[in-house]
Amino acid sequence: MTECSQTTMNKPYIGRFAPSPTGKLHLGSLFAAVASWLHAKQHQGQWLVRMEDLDPPREEPGAADHILQTLKAWGLESDAPVLFQSHRHQAYQSVITQLLASGLAYRCSCSRKQVAAAGLQGPEGWRYNGHCRTQLASENTQHCIRLNTKDLEVTFDDELQGLRRENPEQLFGDFPIRRADGFYAYQLAVVLDDAAQGVTHVVRGIDIMSSTSRQIALQQRLGLQQPQYCHLPVLSGDNGQKLSKQNLATPIPQDYDPALMLWVLEALGMKPPQFLHKEKPQAALIWATEHWQPRQLLRTESIPVN
Ligand code: GLU
Ligand code: ZN
Repeated sequence: MTECSQTTMNKPYIGRFAPSPTGKLHLGSLFAAVASWLHAKQHQGQWLVRMEDLDPPREEPGAADHILQTLKAWGLESDAPVLFQSHRHQAYQSVITQLLASGLAYRCSCSRKQVAAAGLQGPEGWRYNGHCRTQLASENTQHCIRLNTKDLEVTFDDELQGLRRENPEQLFGDFPIRRADGFYAYQLAVVLDDAAQGVTHVVRGIDIMSSTSRQIALQQRLGLQQPQYCHLPVLSGDNGQKLSKQNLATPIPQDYDPALMLWVLEALGMKPPQFLHKEKPQAALIWATEHWQPRQLLRTESIPVN
């Protein structure tokens, strides 16, 4: 069993899987779902499903239902009712109001062009220079809300990727927590929902690790507990690219496919016995709970899909 950090050591394990319904469940997301489920069950923990339906323009009609039904058919059922982010707007707004009132967040009406003109590069494009920290934008102009990241330092001891120290201010600058189009930002929703659901362990793909320092920045500003993080290598397609809905990874069959489950367990570093081909998904998952060793994946960046 792996070690847990001080922050979450004494709490019962609560893990989660948080798909966005921008497409059907694909191999990469099934991989993360199975790994987070195994990790939770191996710690006698709970595993929660959260539907991150935060960005309607990017969502595919029917995808949320499809994802939930597929998970169920594959034996991956949430231990509590599924939380939908689309039902959480009030909670998000009240935290924004509170952050604005305490001066930890501010309105920014800078255009993309203005942000680019400042010439600061970050890992995800132009980094905001903090212009509106002092030049507060009026409520009547179109604006986003940014978190003030001044002097924040982030440390997390990732179960697979090791100790990380990051400075969110230098990497990303003050980042949006509500977008100019009025939608709540992914970073804010994840942090508030993880806290509301009592999540102690976040097991997810390494492709999301760049968001972790922003999420911890928010936890620090809001006085929330930092969960234990575990970032898994992601599966990559023939062309070496991460499998995602964007590059049209084929959806997982909605009916359970034992061969594919065993393939996923192999990709997770296990050697599942052949008899599991004839069994229900629960049998494969129970077998895997006893054999899962996340450290088998240690420091692998990506696992090629054959
Ligand atoms: N909803 C995000 C995604 O599907 C994952 C969020 C997370 O695990 O923190 O990429
Ligand atoms: Zn601004």
